[in-house]
Amino acid sequence: MTHRLDATDPLASYRDRFVGAETSLVYFDGNSLGRPLRATGPRLAGFVEEEWGGRLIRGWDERWLELPQRIGDDLGRVLLGAAPGQATIGDSTTVLLYKLMRAAVAGRPGRSEIVLDRDNFPTDRYVADGVARECGLTLRWIDVDVTAGVTAEQLAEVVGPQTALVVLSHVAYRSAWLADVPELTRIAHEAGALVLWDLCHSAGSVPTSLDAWGVDLAVGCTYKYLNGGPGAPAFCYVASSLLDELTQPIQGWLGSVDPFLMGPSYVPAPGIRRFQSGTPPIVGMLALQDMVALIDEAGIEAVREKSVALTSYAVEVADSLLAPAGVVVASPRDPARRGGHVTLQHPLMREVTSVLWERDVIPDYRDPGGLRIGLSPLSTSFAEVERGLEMVRAALAGLTA
Ligand SMILES: *Cc1c(COP(=O)(O)O)cnc(C)c1O
Repeated sequence: MTHRLDATDPLASYRDRFVGAETSLVYFDGNSLGRPLRATGPRLAGFVEEEWGGRLIRGWDERWLELPQRIGDDLGRVLLGAAPGQATIGDSTTVLLYKLMRAAVAGRPGRSEIVLDRDNFPTDRYVADGVARECGLTLRWIDVDVTAGVTAEQLAEVVGPQTALVVLSHVAYRSAWLADVPELTRIAHEAGALVLWDLCHSAGSVPTSLDAWGVDLAVGCTYKYLNGGPGAPAFCYVASSLLDELTQPIQGWLGSVDPFLMGPSYVPAPGIRRFQSGTPPIVGMLALQDMVALIDEAGIEAVREKSVALTSYAVEVADSLLAPAGVVVASPRDPARRGGHVTLQHPLMREVTSVLWERDVIPDYRDPGGLRIGLSPLSTSFAEVERGLEMVRAALAGLTA
């Protein structure tokens, strides 16, 4: 029987476009690795046969060299709120974080601190630590409530004339806290600092207006809500006002002004291409184009509406079904402050996760005691949420019997 909420969901039919949606498996990890689209198999095969196999090295001149920036522009238009020429697809998120952090601190000489929060994603913290050591800077930490995230008051307390860069996540990977990007960006700018936003847990599920919000720099994953496949390359955004001013540390030939001149020394290209380093990973950026096209078709605002409906429903079911067993919602209850996942806390959730994986219910686990329910808006149904959370209840009951 169709779930009452699926029956009235205007985006319900999009689920059929994903591989595996016809099975009874419950997938709660679209925020970690999105399902493939059915269109992706034929696209990959077609690429091998026609473009790679048919065009061979001519492919670079005909299409591939421009592809990272073309997809960057699509991302900007469909989900980032960015005018063309400011985004590109490149390395892993981790490497792009390094490049943008180094570019930013070099762009604010004489300032001694990078501000970030203790619950930011590990790779963000580790890269910042390395950049600080390399450049003789100090990390200034914000302590946060791990069931929420960084507030305007907390940021205002730590920024000042010493701040070179503020590094924050749009959606906190643990709690799903949705940061107030325009307000936090304004506070950093008032102190004269640059801001780098990590959009990994929002890109494709929560819209942004990077240009309108005055964001300086951003990075994001494409294998989570953008369904680009395992290890698909990340994107970066650099505001047009900074493109001539900032330079990045991995100065390779394909980020230089005229790569095929094979000149004696590096001169950075004008525009976003200067943030590229070497040969772009074309094969890795094929699949995500199908998802960007799908989000374009559905509309990112409608995608966000469905996301809010899914997480609100998950909270409602958790309250009625799981709270009696001692499960606590460790995500914001206000949907305006919540991204696309919900974290449910109980001391036995690590064990619950193992039981669920054996039963084809796939959430993931994050300390302390957090079961993360990731709800990819276009591939997740309300029936799936209900069935999955019922299985959580049964697993907990089995473990405590
Ligand atoms: C997933 C994620 C990353 C991953 O970085 P990789 O370089 O792709 O491994 C980084 N930051 C955040 C906030 C994430 O959610």
